[in-house]
Amino acid sequence: MRIQSNKKVIKNITTACSCDGCGKVVKTNYLPDNWFHFNSNHCGWGNDSVDSIEEYDVCSAECFIKVLKNIFKKNPGCILDYDSGEIAEMPIKFVKELIKKYEK
Ligand SMILES: [Zn+2]
Repeated sequence: MRIQSNKKVIKNITTACSCDGCGKVVKTNYLPDNWFHFNSNHCGWGNDSVDSIEEYDVCSAECFIKVLKNIFKKNPGCILDYDSGEIAEMPIKFVKELIKKYEK
């Protein structure tokens, strides 16, 4: 027999999305149309690779490029040091080439 009791459970739910590029906030529990969600990570040895996973939401292509540039600025010595690094499932070497195109 299973004995049940009545307990309150606290659950985190999404109430808004904010753009990691420009800070725009939309009160919704799902990613708005035309927004993009992506991760950065690397497959380096051990727990480092799990800890390396970061998630981002952006509202536009411009904000996507801005976030890529910010990852490169704030993250020397981390994802950039791993050949296995990926951002939005793009190999880190490809992302570096992409950033160069938008540096002008
Ligand atoms: Zn934005």
